[in-house]
Amino acid sequence: MAFNATWKFNIVPNGGILSTDILNWINAARIPAWFTFSYDETIPWTVDCGPDYGCWPQPEIPFTFVVVREGSTENGISMKNAVGLTWEQMSAIQSGYLDSPETVGLRIWHETLHAMGANPDLLDPDVSPNDIAEFKEFVAENSVFSSDTNITAYLTSPYNHPPNPVLRAYYYMLMVKRLGCPELPIPAGPATVSLWQRLIEWILAIFHV
Ligand SMILES: [Zn+2]
Repeated sequence: MAFNATWKFNIVPNGGILSTDILNWINAARIPAWFTFSYDETIPWTVDCGPDYGCWPQPEIPFTFVVVREGSTENGISMKNAVGLTWEQMSAIQSGYLDSPETVGLRIWHETLHAMGANPDLLDPDVSPNDIAEFKEFVAENSVFSSDTNITAYLTSPYNHPPNPVLRAYYYMLMVKRLGCPELPIPAGPATVSLWQRLIEWILAIFHV
């Protein structure tokens, strides 16, 4: 089945987030080019509330997501207990002021994978202690992955080496492969962003520059 990896996104206003920020975050997470992302300010969203997760902006069209700044309270938004949510094929992702571009990019990748029917949660040993078998098989099939010390340490002792950003990117690659992505790009090492850059971004966001 040809799968729809074409995504559009919108932004909850008044959080200081630009569409170019989101594209930069996606690049920082090294999401494969098989996914495409474009900004569409006409994508509708409403506020969905639940007892566990508070009130989040929920897009109304499949294969769209909306990004919201941490702490947003406009329109009745009061997010809690999550940094991202997915309703069937629609997602919302929170961006924190001190989150790195890679962190938010991986969060976008995570939620879009949920929306596409994959389960990126299985890497977390607390969520699914027995399901790393699939990942072991993937690493064995792709010898280049087995040379990565992050993966070796994790597969040897998942509870002592909780998933880091590099490991998450590798695991999401497995999800992408299972979904039918014809190419399997290998993520490079972790993106490095200086604390100064983050502080500058934070200050710019606060003042809505
Ligand atoms: Zn998840």
